[in-house]
Amino acid sequence: MTTATREETLGFQTEVKQLLQLMIHSLYSNREIFLRELISNAADACDKLRYQALDNDAIFEGDSELRIEIEHDAEAGTVTLRDNGVGMTRDEVIENLGTIARSGTAEFLQQLSGEQQKDARLIGQFGVGFYSSFIVADEVTVRTRKAGTEQDAGVEWHSKGEGEFSVADTERQAHGTEIVLHLKEDAGEFADDSRLQNLVRKYSDHIEVPVRMPKVEQARDEEGNEIEGGETVSWETVNEATALWVRPKSELSEDEYKAFYKHVAHDFSDPLTWSHNKVEGKLEYTSLLYVPGRAPFDLYERDGARGVKLYVQRVFIMDDAEQFLPLYLRFVKGVLDTRDLSLNVSRELLQQDPQVEKIKSALTKRSLDMLKKLAKDDEGYQTFWNTFGSVLKEGPAEDHANREKIAGLLRFSTTHTDSATQDQSLADYIGRMKEGQEKIYYIVADGFNATKSSPHLEIFRKKGIEVLLLHDRIDEWLMSHLTEFDGKSFVDVAKGDLDLGEVEDEDEKKAQEETAKAKEDLVKRVKEALGDDIQEVKVTHRLTDSPACVVLPEHEMGYQMRRIMEAAGQPMPEVKPILELNPEHALVARLESVEGDGFNDLSRILLDQAIIAEGGSLDDPAAYVKRLNTLLSA
Ligand code: ADP
Ligand code: MG
Repeated sequence: MTTATREETLGFQTEVKQLLQLMIHSLYSNREIFLRELISNAADACDKLRYQALDNDAIFEGDSELRIEIEHDAEAGTVTLRDNGVGMTRDEVIENLGTIARSGTAEFLQQLSGEQQKDARLIGQFGVGFYSSFIVADEVTVRTRKAGTEQDAGVEWHSKGEGEFSVADTERQAHGTEIVLHLKEDAGEFADDSRLQNLVRKYSDHIEVPVRMPKVEQARDEEGNEIEGGETVSWETVNEATALWVRPKSELSEDEYKAFYKHVAHDFSDPLTWSHNKVEGKLEYTSLLYVPGRAPFDLYERDGARGVKLYVQRVFIMDDAEQFLPLYLRFVKGVLDTRDLSLNVSRELLQQDPQVEKIKSALTKRSLDMLKKLAKDDEGYQTFWNTFGSVLKEGPAEDHANREKIAGLLRFSTTHTDSATQDQSLADYIGRMKEGQEKIYYIVADGFNATKSSPHLEIFRKKGIEVLLLHDRIDEWLMSHLTEFDGKSFVDVAKGDLDLGEVEDEDEKKAQEETAKAKEDLVKRVKEALGDDIQEVKVTHRLTDSPACVVLPEHEMGYQMRRIMEAAGQPMPEVKPILELNPEHALVARLESVEGDGFNDLSRILLDQAIIAEGGSLDDPAAYVKRLNTLLSA
């Protein structure tokens, strides 16, 4: 019997209480995840001990055969998990099993939907693993001792999951952790050999630490009767217990790859694709990278978890090693196991190691190639794009060297499909270019409808020239880092002079020049009427239906970027647009025939309308309404 002293009762952190409520009262389906979580913790504890033992062998306390053991007692209704990993001190127990250390817990709890299936997934993903014990148990006891401490440094933690827990000091011979789950009445199914074995295989085959279960053999006499006290127990390893990425590709099934993904990514759904590579030569590493099928909750958080699980020569070093992939590929999950780093690398050392840069550029290339391959599957790629497209759009700015490759992976809405779904590649666009067309045309605005009905597209629609419709917040910024693709430059149709190149013939150009000449007088009068609010007035052939539009000088920052900068508190210098008039339009014809105030008002209305059509806002909208009403009632 152990003697427990210094017993104290403590309350769980509020977030933990909320979480426990959820575990206990709403998670009925998928209850088996508790085992995955507890095994994963035990395996982590073994990994950590092995790592610490690298420069301090004594910490094994003579017991270096790392393992996890699972036992059950159907009569008592308990399941016990035991590991000989690092264990915990009293303070660590209180910290780890009383609070949720991760930042973002509040957001996590907000995301819970009340829908069990979804919430269970989120729980796994967030890694609040230990508390999932209470999905199946109404009482949990943890006994642990930190490896390398005295035997009286053991700790016993106990809780019914109802808001508080107790801790006490205790004697403990073995280092490592033992968790006893007292199963709820309706969870008795888990105190069963074959059920437990199946779950271990399902979740832990690829864990390198052996997971063992006892096999009881009953000795019998010659007549087949049980001999009293004749039971022998042998421990059997239930899981495969080899690191999956070390095994040859040819031996691995899709299901094994998928199961491993779920383990490394803490995700319940299948990955979209993966890439498994063993590299020998100047660099020596094995990588197994995955593209998830759904976004983690912290994809856009600055300090969100990202990066690969790092191993050096099979020894686990750290989770979330973010130095090996660029930020724009932060959705990629997986494992990197290398011989090119020393076993004592730390996050700080990683930042200085020149090998890291080399591996990073190799993994970047692998990831981009993996996406290129995925792009052959329309449906899979569309799921990828809808989930992570706006992250990939950060690529051209971050990674100049791979700009062309990344551009090839981008997907757009275009006038060809006129759909808000971004599903057309630049190669698709180029394949449809008109004869004589040399440039890739695009327009940027906030929202699909604003791009689709922009007056700037009128001439393009008339001539049947396709235009990319960019309507994500990040798009103008993206395009400022993309100058060309496949030797063809990008042109913003709302900026600078319109040049359709060979698509327009000489006769058309001549006719345009003649019209411009004929309207010189009108242009001058409008410029006088609008004064300093505009840079210039021109007649245009961009328009077929609208009377006027505004255009920005070619190298001026666009409206979308300006709004983002302004929202970020960055004051922007005023920009004066160029007003372009459609000489064929009835309102413009009418303008020519009016004088005085009427002329000034109509000029101003045309300018204001053009700004509105651009998604811009007017300085004095009431004045615009008044002018318009005067005109309407005339
Ligand atoms: P996570 O594994 O994501 O950190 P958990 O709730 O599963 O979250 O575990 C919380 C912490 O408790 C772990 O990070 C670890 O420090 C500690 N812990 C849990 N189980 C064990 C164990 N078997 N041995 C040692 N430490 C453990
Ligand atoms: Mg865990």
